[in-house]
Amino acid sequence: GQQEKKLGIALVGLGSYSAGQLAPGLVNTEHCYLAGIVTGTPAKEKQWMSQYNIPKANVYNYENFDEIAKNDAIDIVYVVLPNSMHAEFCIRSAKAGKHVICEKPMAVSVLECDAIIEACNTAGVKLSVGYRMQSDPYTNEIKRLVRKKTFGDVHYVSSDAAYVSRGNPDQWRLNKSLSGGGALLNMGVYSIQSNIYGTGMNPISVAAQEFSTMPEYFKDTDETITAQMQFPNGVVGNLFTSHNANANRLFVSFRKGWAELNPCHNYGPLAGRTSEGKEIKFPHKSQQMLQMDDFAKHIKTGSTNVAPGEMGKRDMIICEAIYQSIREGGKTVPL
Ligand code: NDP
Repeated sequence: GQQEKKLGIALVGLGSYSAGQLAPGLVNTEHCYLAGIVTGTPAKEKQWMSQYNIPKANVYNYENFDEIAKNDAIDIVYVVLPNSMHAEFCIRSAKAGKHVICEKPMAVSVLECDAIIEACNTAGVKLSVGYRMQSDPYTNEIKRLVRKKTFGDVHYVSSDAAYVSRGNPDQWRLNKSLSGGGALLNMGVYSIQSNIYGTGMNPISVAAQEFSTMPEYFKDTDETITAQMQFPNGVVGNLFTSHNANANRLFVSFRKGWAELNPCHNYGPLAGRTSEGKEIKFPHKSQQMLQMDDFAKHIKTGSTNVAPGEMGKRDMIICEAIYQSIREGGKTVPL
């Protein structure tokens, strides 16, 4: 029956994340499998077809992609392209009648997020954002401590999401027309996410500052951003994101203790501890496997969509407010 059938996923854009994480994750998924590919690089077609046993009928390029509408083997399209291409391909996927997973950041503007959500609603297909941390057990343990008030109410969260991204100066992440922004859109969204699950609330305002120690290299996109978020009840959140430092941590301060994940936002295994001296520890599993199974289960059974399009849009609203605050000299921007 429908409940037992594995859903077919087509990956769009066979770059390092598709090849290094998503395709290997799909080898072990229970509710979905790698059924098709969409690529602009003909050499990748043969290699992927043989490596993952993909029939020629399930291989598309960016031009003939819309024909995927006629292919019943594909239930879900997973858009893993540079950020400025997300909206176009998510909308084309929805119009083809396919459920959509959109990589983070969801798009390069709130307007584009709205257009994606609208296209999926109109087509009657499900939509989620590639927020693998929402399916991770360490993250869910932090959410549980917050919800259960194990250490009382949260009053402060600090989260860093940064890595040194030098190397190739021609990479699309440093090109604003393809990335939409620098460290904030690439890594800052993780810090926004952990500020929100670390407090269990949405921020009500944000103030931000931008720095660059290598403006000759980071010409087009933000290198380093810090931001302070205010949450209801006087709760404060702190964000650090950079393409020129390594930091990967969440610290949640409660009235009667604290919890910490370090590392917090990478592919794992993550590590954590609490003020009681207890380690937070779970068996390591592929986050991508858990994430794609969560979405396939949502489609098949109506279980919770843990990373819906509205969540991607919410985070993009915060990103736009952070950029606005920077443009306005660090002014507090209400959300
Ligand atoms: P890559 O540069 O490694 O791959 C992007 C792929 O997109 C290319 O290989 C290419 O695939 C296709 N593409 C089509 N047009 C272009 C273009 N003009 N320039 C560059 N590539 C193009 O990027 P990533 O795989 O690292 O990132 C892709 C997306 O996934 C981004 O949105 C990123 O934010 C997200 N991501 C998410 C992660 C997570 O943990 N959730 C981790 C890493 C990335 P082809 O040759 O098949 O056409």
